[in-house]
Amino acid sequence: MARIRILSRETIEHIAAGEVIERPASVVKELIENSIDAGADEISVEIESPIVSYIRVADNGCGMDNEDLRLSVSSHTTSKIQSSKDLASIFTLGFRGEALSSIVSVSKTRISTRTEGSGTGSFIYTEAGDIIETGPAAQPKGTIIEVRDLFFNTPARKKFLKTEATEQRKIVDMVSTYALCYPKIRFSLKVKGRDVLNLAPSENHLERVISVLGHTLRHRLYPAHAERPSISIKAIMASPDMARATKSHMYTFVNGRHVKDSVLTGAIMEGFRGLLVKKRYPLIVLFVDIDPSEIDVNVHPTKTQVRFRNASAVFGIIASTIKKRLADFPWDRAEVVVTPREASRPATKVQEPRSLYGQYKQPKTRPSQASLIGTTGGFYSSKKVIGVLHSTYILLQDKDALYILDQHASHERINYERLKSTISSSSPQSQMLLEPRLIELKPDEYAVLKRIMSRISMSGIELEPFGGTTVAVRAVPRMLASADIESIILDIINLAMKDSAEGEGYLDDMIATIACHRSITAGDKLDEAEIVALLKDLDEVGSPRACPHGRPLYKKIYISEIEKWLARRP
Ligand code: ADP
Ligand code: MG
Repeated sequence: MARIRILSRETIEHIAAGEVIERPASVVKELIENSIDAGADEISVEIESPIVSYIRVADNGCGMDNEDLRLSVSSHTTSKIQSSKDLASIFTLGFRGEALSSIVSVSKTRISTRTEGSGTGSFIYTEAGDIIETGPAAQPKGTIIEVRDLFFNTPARKKFLKTEATEQRKIVDMVSTYALCYPKIRFSLKVKGRDVLNLAPSENHLERVISVLGHTLRHRLYPAHAERPSISIKAIMASPDMARATKSHMYTFVNGRHVKDSVLTGAIMEGFRGLLVKKRYPLIVLFVDIDPSEIDVNVHPTKTQVRFRNASAVFGIIASTIKKRLADFPWDRAEVVVTPREASRPATKVQEPRSLYGQYKQPKTRPSQASLIGTTGGFYSSKKVIGVLHSTYILLQDKDALYILDQHASHERINYERLKSTISSSSPQSQMLLEPRLIELKPDEYAVLKRIMSRISMSGIELEPFGGTTVAVRAVPRMLASADIESIILDIINLAMKDSAEGEGYLDDMIATIACHRSITAGDKLDEAEIVALLKDLDEVGSPRACPHGRPLYKKIYISEIEKWLARRP
């Protein structure tokens, strides 16, 4: 690594200022970043209880010589940039020259280090930033930093700490997060002498993601790549059924840096649109590698934010990469793991079950054998209907699985797709109402409606103010002719109140709301012909796998799973 220098006043003024050491996890973050910048391929973290009493980070990186070691603990000293010009193209995680000095100023710290060439290493011991002792240290190449009594001289900061368990979890998260991004580095974390993480180096991100986030993910991860001249994207995402209630499992990295950024999270949500239920967030690890001159990392002192010069291009490429990968619902093709013993058995013969309808007749266009095997027809209509459960779930089968299809969600999706194509056609087919329907609104509702009136008209619902806070509905799309238009309008207003999102996403939500009103509900009894029509309609609108709100339309249960439940298979 280059020699450490003291930054000039002019450069210091260009660097985002602010405190970086707020809690024990920030110490761990800064020290791990330094180890990565030092080229280490082994980083071990140890903490004791209470965490503030002891944090240790050791690496096998390039180390520092005696002179650099002394300089490293002063403020604004760094080997990573020379002048403010360098801020325009940062290739390292650090560049502010502030972390070590901030850490030593609020603790009692011992740093020992040795470079490759030097026979002996050296150490420095500081208290509240003052150098108390220095000397030689016998140790392998690399750097060991031990931070004791964190915040001993800043009781106010100590008071802000959360419970020991929370602070510990933040450290586990921090180490795990870096481990996701740097699979070739061996990471370990010990808490009170106990191994919490021990991650052997792995050649690729996918293996590391599995070892950090859990082996149950192994068959549920879908990687995607995209490459453009100054940017490359790599996403490893889990099927939507693994989605979480918080964004905690959306890991986003830009040039090896863990960042939290609305462009990235927004793009991910856009990529997953239509696949997730409201307020659920996908499990995804996203790596963006971009020309450093295309981003500004000098936005926030903790370096957890970036600014993209061309945010919309970044958004677009991420969203489309994810969308494309998930477009054909890869989780539907999940392989059933067959053990060698089973593989040698003859394939299980599918028994034609007795229909709950007694004589369910296949129309001539779908010969029953073909539908059983599922080789012809669309995704839904190629399956055999075997019954209806609780007047709500249509049961279908094909050669290796049973499908439990939600009839309401299915109908909702069909309406949604039809309405959407009506709306995107240049002139939505509306039907004038003989008598305008008057809807009296509350003042706040009326205010919102006025704002979104022109958008609503795109759906073929024609509205106009009728004095006061009353609005008149003059026309509705043909398919809504017999719908309860008042409650549709109220729902749309509610949606707009809750959600300030603009643009296409909003329109989609609006259509989904309308579609829901028109749909049959669970419990509406469908006859055979209606079920067949429903399946055909589903295929006609592109065989969607989720309702417009993101709920899955069906659950697939493999016969092999059933056999396992019933102990027909080991
Ligand atoms: P920055 O990382 O922004 O340069 P720091 O205060 O974190 O600032 O570190 C100051 C300098 O100390 C670094 O630029 C680097 O040269 C040196 N340094 C810190 N940690 C290590 C380490 N683990 N191995 C080698 N050098 C280190
Ligand atoms: Mg640093």
